[in-house]
Amino acid sequence: MAITEDLVRPGKIKMPKILIVEDNELNRDMLSRRLERKGYSVLCAHDGEQGHFLACSEAPDLILMDISLPLMNGWEVTRLLKSNERTRHIPIIALTAHALVTDRHTALDAGCEDYDTKPIDFERLDKKIDSLLTVKK
Ligand code: MN
Repeated sequence: MAITEDLVRPGKIKMPKILIVEDNELNRDMLSRRLERKGYSVLCAHDGEQGHFLACSEAPDLILMDISLPLMNGWEVTRLLKSNERTRHIPIIALTAHALVTDRHTALDAGCEDYDTKPIDFERLDKKIDSLLTVKK
C-alpha cells in the first residue's frame, strides 16, 4: 500500500509535539488545553532546567519559551538548545511580558525563530505556531 494512503487515514496522522516552558500555572494550563484541543501533543515544563531536559529528551517539534523562569531563564535555555546540534533545529517562540524592542532583539540574538508578548493572544500565537510548523514540513 502506498505510504501516502497510510498517512491520510484518520487517526494515523502524527500531530506535532509542542513543549511549553512556563512557570505560571494559569498560562501553562490555558496554553496546553487550547493546543491539545487543536490536536497537538503537548508537554510542559515549569522551570528552565526541566525545559532544557525535556527539549533534549523528547525532541519536540516546537517550543513555547517563557523568559522569566526559575533556575535558568528562557534566554539561557534557548542559547543552550541553539548551540546543541541535536536541538538547534527546533523552532522556539519566546514569550515575554513586555513588548520592548530590546526583548525582540534579545530573542533574535538568542536564536529564537519568533517572539510574542503577554498577555497571550492565543489566535495570534497559533498563527505563528502554524507558520513555523508549516515551514518545517
Ligand atoms: Mn515566567
